Amino acid sequence: MKSFDYIIIGGGSAGCLLANRLSDNAQTEVCLLEAGPSDDSHFIHNTNPVNMLYLLNSPKYNWKYYAEGNHKTGKRRFFWPRGKTLGGSSAVNAMIYTRGHPSDFDRWAALGNEGWDYRSVLPYFLKSERQHRGGDAYHNDTGEMDVIDPNFHFPASTAFIEACKQAGIPHNRDINGEQYEGVDFFQINQTPDGQRAHSAVSFLNPIRHRKNLTIITGAHVNKVLMNDGTAYAVEYFDLKNARCLCTLNARREIILSAGIIGSPQILMLSGIGPAAQLQQLGIEIVKDLPGVGENLQDHPDVILRYRDKSGTSLTTFPWPYMIRFMSRFYKKNSNFIFTPTDAGGFIKSDPSLEVPDLQLQFASLRMQPHGAGLTPTLAGYVLHICHMRPNSRGRIRLTSADPFAHPRIEANYFDDEMELEALVKGVKIARNILSQPAMQPFNKKEEVPGASCRTDEDIRRFILKKVESVYHTAGSCKMGIDNMAVVDPRLRVYGIRNLRVIDSSIMPTITGSNIHAPTVMIAEKGAELVVKG
Ligand SMILES: Cc1cc2nc3c(=O)[nH]c(=O)nc-3n(C[C@H](O)[C@H](O)[C@H](O)COP(=O)(O)OP(=O)(O)OC[C@H]3O[C@@H](n4cnc5c(N)ncnc54)[C@H](O)[C@@H]3O)c2cc1C
Repeated sequence: MKSFDYIIIGGGSAGCLLANRLSDNAQTEVCLLEAGPSDDSHFIHNTNPVNMLYLLNSPKYNWKYYAEGNHKTGKRRFFWPRGKTLGGSSAVNAMIYTRGHPSDFDRWAALGNEGWDYRSVLPYFLKSERQHRGGDAYHNDTGEMDVIDPNFHFPASTAFIEACKQAGIPHNRDINGEQYEGVDFFQINQTPDGQRAHSAVSFLNPIRHRKNLTIITGAHVNKVLMNDGTAYAVEYFDLKNARCLCTLNARREIILSAGIIGSPQILMLSGIGPAAQLQQLGIEIVKDLPGVGENLQDHPDVILRYRDKSGTSLTTFPWPYMIRFMSRFYKKNSNFIFTPTDAGGFIKSDPSLEVPDLQLQFASLRMQPHGAGLTPTLAGYVLHICHMRPNSRGRIRLTSADPFAHPRIEANYFDDEMELEALVKGVKIARNILSQPAMQPFNKKEEVPGASCRTDEDIRRFILKKVESVYHTAGSCKMGIDNMAVVDPRLRVYGIRNLRVIDSSIMPTITGSNIHAPTVMIAEKGAELVVKG
């Protein structure tokens, strides 16, 4: 049986960084196991919006999970895409770079997670960052992960920012700096030549040659093997070899970085989780940890959609215009840096709030949620309104002991009505922004929800009917010191030696941001904790 010092399960936002940092010491042998294929596809690297649409729906590169509805949203199911390749969800995401509010991390520390307050985590945000505006107290320009300003925006996106100013929303050039509140164009994870800078590009490509690093793709992990409370090996199915079952030994530690669904699923398959549930499935209990799969959080999102009378948004007609636009993604040295959802930021649903609770995301593209039934033949634009600090909690439960079966995901949106009421206010704020003078050259008609949606009750009904995930999911293996915590503040699984979870699932409370940047921060700090032992 092959042995490594460290085995990392899952090559996503967190796993790729961990592989880099842990293999930095040439004396340490590291293995990275990823269920998906390699990321050597132009669909991933070329950021043309059609490729992004493909990735969102591709069974090859996407797990394509569905979450269940609840007593508020009804039987409707919610599409929860997750990346399945080297780079994980960062290889299929929208590349928006935001970190969260300082109080997000101070709250983690206040919950007993020493060393996770904002002042303590800021250096770990900086360490990996390659900020193309240059370095300052909040940014570093010498890391591996590109953070860059797009150099192309459709006219409606530029007008949206002006409309926010006209509506009295603060303009903020750096929502990842001193001030969090406000709106501007987003910074994104792309290289200066306009390629996706996902975690595999930033953290694996520069070190793939290391002799002490083994990367195995097509390795679907089944379980972690334990002996007397100590994790010592990983069992996986080799998908390139007729699903043959393989085992690798870990001399020092096994690290789960399989994301918010994969990490709790593998723990439960290994016998670590809520004992009664696991017993029902015939799984032998190694450690009764009731918090595994609980504490699941997401940012619920609704989209307003408008027709654009200027005809300047991203459309398939007229053809010559469209072809000219698309060809920019393929021209050598065109350095075309673009993402469809390019403008937005953080606002308060109520001025009395201390910290903004909503995110706005604007795209000059007449799209439906998840790109389903995209209707780009007509010019238009959309504005997402997402709740950033939900109280509602969902859960992930195994439905079977089969490692290939998708677990049951309960999103539980609006279990706490607070989020619904904040989004009602958010829709009204968004409509006010989109009716400002700056948007008049574009504003032909509000298509969704439309003019018949007038009262607060109408808006409430619209939100309940149309709410979707904006793909920011976290918290299913939470870090903490209470009896629902799965890992301690050093990210060690309670009651098991040599096993950690290091990814977005350890967030005790979801950050008020897109999730890739804080996940990379968690991995950066986690790598240091592993090395220090
Ligand atoms: C469509 C979409 C758009 C998004 N847009 C943005 C955005 O613009 N900005 C932003 O900051 N965030 C965005 N996010 C969220 C962000 O990308 C994720 O939250 C983040 O990448 C999660 O990182 P992670 O390391 O926890 O998990 P992941 O990156 O999901 O990595 C987990 C890895 O583990 C692998 N894995 C899972 N199970 C197994 C198994 N059994 N065996 C082996 N390997 C396994 C997976 O294949 C995957 O590669 C988006 C997400 C999606 C899906």
